[in-house]
Amino acid sequence: MFKIVRPAVGESGNAPGRVEKQIRKLLSLDKARSGREDEYEVSSKQCMHGPNCRLGNFCTVGRRRQEVNVLGGLILPVWGTIEKALSKQARQSHKRLCVVHIETTTDNRRIVGLLVPNAAVESVLQDLAWVQDIDD
Ligand SMILES: [Zn+2]
Repeated sequence: MFKIVRPAVGESGNAPGRVEKQIRKLLSLDKARSGREDEYEVSSKQCMHGPNCRLGNFCTVGRRRQEVNVLGGLILPVWGTIEKALSKQARQSHKRLCVVHIETTTDNRRIVGLLVPNAAVESVLQDLAWVQDIDD
């Protein structure tokens, strides 16, 4: 019996048959430590698919740290604009409007807003350019 704790995602389920093919026992603790530290560092910036992932920086699968964009505040007047901007996205999962609730860890602020997929930020900001014009 063993427990798998990955540097990027923490404890994960055991799948002994598959895992035994993927792992080997390290006899040097220093080698294990440096490998783990390297993996921990890389997993903050890179997805689990590696540097050649076809989604590039937008892919967050298996990342230890993720950048999340939430559009909060008075969003009802721009709801249609955001919906339209998201509908232009290539990936089906990026087309959906998703309301999220987050709580910051540094100052315990609670924010409710729309989740804007990283790949859609540019498009949403472009389509919301008219909001700036109205404020001026
Ligand atoms: Zn990836």
